[in-house]
Amino acid sequence: MDGSQGIAGSISYGEDVKRLREAFASGRTLDFAWRRRQIEALGAAVARYEDEIVAALKADLGKPALEAAVAEVDYLTKEAKLAAKNLETWAKPRKVGTPMATLPAKSYIAPEPLGVALIIGAWNYPLQEVFGPLIGAIAAGNCAVLKPSEAVPHASALLRKIAEEVLDPDCFFVVEGGAEETLALLRERFDKIFYTGGGRVGRIVMEAASKHLTPVTLELGGKSPAIVCKDANLDVAARRIVWAAFMNAGQLCVRPDHCLIEEEIYDDFISTLREVAKQFYGENPQASEDYARIVNERHLERLEKLLGAGEIVVGGEVDKADRYLAPTILKDVKPDDPVMQEEIFGPILPCLKVSSVDEAIAFIKERDKPLALYVFTASDEIAGRFERETSAGTMMVNDAVIFQTNHHLPFGGVGPSGMGAFHGRHSFDDFSHLKAVMKRPFWGDAKLRYPPYSETAKKL
Ligand code: NAD
Repeated sequence: MDGSQGIAGSISYGEDVKRLREAFASGRTLDFAWRRRQIEALGAAVARYEDEIVAALKADLGKPALEAAVAEVDYLTKEAKLAAKNLETWAKPRKVGTPMATLPAKSYIAPEPLGVALIIGAWNYPLQEVFGPLIGAIAAGNCAVLKPSEAVPHASALLRKIAEEVLDPDCFFVVEGGAEETLALLRERFDKIFYTGGGRVGRIVMEAASKHLTPVTLELGGKSPAIVCKDANLDVAARRIVWAAFMNAGQLCVRPDHCLIEEEIYDDFISTLREVAKQFYGENPQASEDYARIVNERHLERLEKLLGAGEIVVGGEVDKADRYLAPTILKDVKPDDPVMQEEIFGPILPCLKVSSVDEAIAFIKERDKPLALYVFTASDEIAGRFERETSAGTMMVNDAVIFQTNHHLPFGGVGPSGMGAFHGRHSFDDFSHLKAVMKRPFWGDAKLRYPPYSETAKKL
């Protein structure tokens, strides 16, 4: 099921993709009942395999059971139910207006499937990142190749097992493996590529897609700031930021990457953050059931190098044998410290002092557009300034991360944090071509538009 050796020993998925292309061409995926069956079977299998999913994520990431149940199983079963219930409504032609000059006519938008999609996932929420977009791809009537991340081998193998157990094998297949397998897939022609991961590989994906003019959705990352203004409720803000920053040991694309704190409350807020971190994870977070591990040694070493900035308020401990890095808060970090030069994607939360909202806005505007921006303030006016004056994939006021549970909101980045968006109906649209259709009758054929135009001019 995952490729054969091609010319010069390199892997080739040409035959597998061809099989999917033939199934798509047969029109099988146009049938709404078929789409619903695939999605319902997938949703039911994810629910049925909940214990195995929790165990796989524990083995790969030390992920707490509740986080796995909510972010993977619950998220996917809800997304599957929503799509199964609504896919026919989403697929209906969407009537739009017609200008007077082109009457009589009817105009509408008719969504149509793109064809064969490639979905490449990252490792931090490995099932969600592959099956999530897949639900949209199926709802929209596509076939798909699934490529989970090799960094989480238990989750990757389980994903493959579930897919092979319940999905139509003529229309879907899973490729396990790393860069070599992904590059082999990228040599094939797809009608859509949906990639989740870092920007470096995102560029490789986009370059490969350009060869066939394949549309891409890139769900990337970035340094999402949390701005804490002096009028914020410090207790609530600290709880929400600590929860979001250290969930899954900080390996979350929309985690607050750093805090910009107004100077009047800087010291108070940092001691509140410290207290909250101790309440959540205890004096020894390594013993906490609610704290995950770093995915691998390479990432742990990368993170360790970022610890040197500012002053450690809490955390900083590393245990390589256990892939453990304590939830760590740093204060008095400088904008040019290494920890502020790349997305942290781990349990380190640098805090920086800003003198005003103006300074915070200027700081954000000088940097890459983030995937998410969090502002904590009691003032609608200040929140409004961030909304108007800065750009981000998503903005959330007075909380972090949980906007992702609202499927009405499109989820995606802007600029270096990504392009395209999904969740709920937005996933359906992302895997559809929104075909414009205008229909006219033969009657009412106004002659004014035809040459000779000199005749038209006389009549106007
Ligand atoms: P990763 O290393 O697992 O890579 C992602 C995918 O690319 C994998 O399937 C992998 O096999 C493939 N890949 C890796 N190297 C490759 C290469 N050289 N050539 C071709 N393919 C290759 O994941 P990652 O990049 O470490 O993921 C972390 C990043 O993902 C962070 O930046 C995070 O913010 C981002 N992310 C974004 C979202 C989102 O929804 N926007 C979600 C999760 C993670």
